[in-house]
Amino acid sequence: MKVGILGGGQLAMMMVQSSIEDNVEFIVVDPSDNPPANKYVKCIRSEFDDTRMLDKLSRECDVVTIDFENVPSASLKYLESKIDVHPNSEAVEICQDRLKEKKLFEECKIPVTSYKKIDSIDELDTSKKLFSNGAILKSRFFGYDGKNQVDLDISNIKNAFEACGGSKLIIEEKVSFIKELSLIGVRDIKGRTAFYPLVENIHVNGILHTSIAPYDDNDLQEKAQNYHNLLSDKMNYVGVLVVEFFLDNENNLIANEMAPRVHNSGHWTIEGANISQFRSHIKSVMGEDISEINVDNYAAMMNILSTMPDLTMSGISNILKIYNYGKTERKNRKLGHITIIDKDKDKLLDRIKLLEKFT
Ligand code: AMP
Repeated sequence: MKVGILGGGQLAMMMVQSSIEDNVEFIVVDPSDNPPANKYVKCIRSEFDDTRMLDKLSRECDVVTIDFENVPSASLKYLESKIDVHPNSEAVEICQDRLKEKKLFEECKIPVTSYKKIDSIDELDTSKKLFSNGAILKSRFFGYDGKNQVDLDISNIKNAFEACGGSKLIIEEKVSFIKELSLIGVRDIKGRTAFYPLVENIHVNGILHTSIAPYDDNDLQEKAQNYHNLLSDKMNYVGVLVVEFFLDNENNLIANEMAPRVHNSGHWTIEGANISQFRSHIKSVMGEDISEINVDNYAAMMNILSTMPDLTMSGISNILKIYNYGKTERKNRKLGHITIIDKDKDKLLDRIKLLEKFT
């Protein structure tokens, strides 16, 4: 089978790498010169809306998927008229827009923080006063890793409005959360789902720093899975879908956002689960039945940002799995990640502390 992937970043790289044993062929498309996936498959250099490239994919592939949620939905719709595309264009379109995403959460009766759509500075001025716990202004589109969002407690509204692009915005009440959790689930074309255990995520400056799994709480796991099933059924979703939650001090899950793709908080599944999120995704978009997911140890993933560290001095480099995506160094750019596995959660946490000195 041949799978097309729009986007050749580290997620595509790991999808290709994790599917080697399944004999899947890939055509990966990326507008940049030497994307990370080039390491395993010769990527085609093209914009995502180039009709000739889309025609080539539809002629040569059995199915197309994405490693990047901001692929133009018109390109996915064009492909959909010719071949299977998973996840489908409508699901991707919802996940591209924070407003549509929030509306879907509400339709599914999934708690969200209070929010309002903002299109003018006057609307922002009036709305800000409604949120007594503080508020965050976010661009509805193209927001990731804390980009295109501003904490309104530390910025005046004019600067915040301009920094977020000046239109198509959303203001959200600040959630005083005790944890951030994500649920990675996979749905096959028959509508059956399988889930990884909840992951605890620690962000620094809006960027994911460390993920630790499993977050052991059976009730929360069940609740999160129910929410995930409601969303993926509604969108007729196929593949890996990730839902990010805040956990408040009364143990309530509050949905923050979704990713219609494999996710940074699931990189640990390569070493930490019987089947990785990457392989699960590719198998499901190819139409295979869902596989059972088992996790027997604790796992942690730490992102490597800005510069690749020398971990030999950490004294534990022999038990780490270190990924280098081969990208040029740039401030706050995700260059790689580290995975650590242990049966004992306390030992794992000690190692994370140790590694923090080196990353
Ligand atoms: P996002 O791009 O929406 O995932 O936001 C990036 C990070 O900013 C989140 O992981 C949180 O740490 C923080 N954040 C975003 N929205 C809120 C909110 N409404 N309340 C509190 N923290 C938030």
